[in-house]
Amino acid sequence: MTVFDEMHDFVVVGSGGGSMCAGLVVRSEGKSVVILEKTELVGGTTSRSGGVMWLPNNPYMKRDGVDDSLDQASAYLEALCGEDRDTPGSTPARRRRYLSVAPRMLAFLGTQGIKLTRAKYWPDYHDELPGGSGQGRTVVAELFNVNELGDWKHKLRPTFIRAPYALLQPTLEEMMELPAYKRSWRVKLLIVRLVLRGLRAKLGGRQWVAGGAALQGRMLQAALRSGIDIRTDAPVSELILEAGVVKGVLTTRNGQPWRLGARLGVLVNAGGFARNQAMRDRYTPGTSVKWTMAAPGDTGEMIEEMMRIGAAVAQMDERVGNQQTHPPGAENSEAKPTAQGMTASPHAILVDQSGLRYMNEGGSYMAYCKAMLERNKTVPAVPSWAVLDSQYLEKYMLAGTMPGTQKPQGWYDSGYLKKADSIEALAQQISVDAATLKATVERFNGFVAQNRDEDFHRGERAYDNWLGDDLNRPSATLGAIERAPFYAVPVIPGDVGTYGGVVTDEEARVLREDGSVIPGLYATGVSTASVMGRKYPGAGSSVGPSFLWGYVAARHATSSDSHGVSASVPVRASSSVV
Ligand SMILES: Cc1cc2nc3c(=O)[nH]c(=O)nc-3n(C[C@H](O)[C@H](O)[C@H](O)COP(=O)(O)OP(=O)(O)OC[C@H]3O[C@@H](n4cnc5c(N)ncnc54)[C@H](O)[C@@H]3O)c2cc1C
Repeated sequence: MTVFDEMHDFVVVGSGGGSMCAGLVVRSEGKSVVILEKTELVGGTTSRSGGVMWLPNNPYMKRDGVDDSLDQASAYLEALCGEDRDTPGSTPARRRRYLSVAPRMLAFLGTQGIKLTRAKYWPDYHDELPGGSGQGRTVVAELFNVNELGDWKHKLRPTFIRAPYALLQPTLEEMMELPAYKRSWRVKLLIVRLVLRGLRAKLGGRQWVAGGAALQGRMLQAALRSGIDIRTDAPVSELILEAGVVKGVLTTRNGQPWRLGARLGVLVNAGGFARNQAMRDRYTPGTSVKWTMAAPGDTGEMIEEMMRIGAAVAQMDERVGNQQTHPPGAENSEAKPTAQGMTASPHAILVDQSGLRYMNEGGSYMAYCKAMLERNKTVPAVPSWAVLDSQYLEKYMLAGTMPGTQKPQGWYDSGYLKKADSIEALAQQISVDAATLKATVERFNGFVAQNRDEDFHRGERAYDNWLGDDLNRPSATLGAIERAPFYAVPVIPGDVGTYGGVVTDEEARVLREDGSVIPGLYATGVSTASVMGRKYPGAGSSVGPSFLWGYVAARHATSSDSHGVSASVPVRASSSVV
């Protein structure tokens, strides 16, 4: 029998999205919880992220008079994911459970003082399907004054929102409006409001954070208040099994092995394997750790550890793609410029290395990057080229730089940013047949003139237009590539994380290949095979499920009998028993 150094009711591995949500449930039942985080910062990729959660039929939609129901959301998920094969993470029962628990979980978070709201307009990514929402089902945290965390402020992983935006401390939605500041009085007024809000915050000793840091900051605050024991620099290397039951974990303390027992169960919320090249080579060949924006702890060892004790895995070849463009130095930096929206904006298209368009550039980032990798099997398409005209550079962002600003000379010198006076000359610079590229651009311009993309139907979905420019007329996404000079930059199928992992059931319990439960072991987030299968229904389809299955796991663990680690389990005399 294992001698434990400490005993707890519930042990959580990793401080991801579901960890503190689960912890709050366990604490609300009067039980003890410890969260073990391997890095020096709390919050995982969730904290770095936009922090948006796709949670249909939520009370904020009702509040704002936006139509939704369990049946509508079910119809949408069935239409989107129902046809998928080989997706045991996305059974109809799990999808239904996800949708039915979402409003309850949000109500619970409300009781814990977590202030959430909805993104006012963020269409589902396949809003054209039955049950799709043109308004969107995305929930976000309200801005959070990170100073309320006291010393823990420095332990919260920062969000991806950096300079120049960070100076204005905008919400995610406000941030997305800012690039149009030269062209819109609405945005100019917004900037004035943000400056005033910033001044008031400074005078009041507040520091607003948004996105994932607001979400995880609020969760951390509630977790600390409720008495959850959160430890950083506490990597878990082993799940401790007795007679087939997970009874605890092995971590380290002061450099020594340290065994924590869990009376009610262990929840793994340790992220995916985006930072593990060996696992990428095995499961998502042709992709690189240099392409990911996932946080540094996303190294996959807990998925491997669960496999070691018999867990089934599925959907391991799936990633949440995120198209990126890497100016010099970006590859080795944490802040990789996303190209999301770039080629969905007017005056821009994406072509493969033969000079042909091959997708609706307005699709979701997952669909976009899948299309790139798929195309690359027959025509070189990694990287593909974003072809832009001078109107694009005047109006829209490029690789993190503001519209209309001079681009660094190094971008030209290194060959990253190509510039030419004609499409034919641009074609030569990117080693594409000039006649082919010219024909592609002329065909696209013809679609712009008739306001209809006959090849790929860009602009026929609410989401395509959301990604574009609502100030552009008549189409938010179609605009001719006609004004010299012309530009091109490479686009690669980067990612924000992986999307496959251990298979779990409707209670978030980890399953073996034969479908039986591994007692005592729960998992959530991207350590698991996604409930969305191989699809991304809308913004927040990673963080939403992480919270939700954490909530479900904790409800199940606290309503079940102890998994067998009773008070009589040996605990070292010198250790503190919580
Ligand atoms: C810039 C960016 C924006 C994004 N925006 C969104 C968005 O708005 N909505 C959305 O749904 N998705 C978004 N994503 C994707 C999403 O953030 C992640 O897929 C999701 O947060 C993963 O959450 P998780 O709970 O599974 O794990 P994480 O939040 O990554 O947490 C896992 C934690 O476990 C720790 N850990 C790992 N191994 C161990 C171990 N052995 N022992 C102890 N601890 C361990 C890690 O260090 C990490 O802190 C975004 C991603 C990025 C990079």
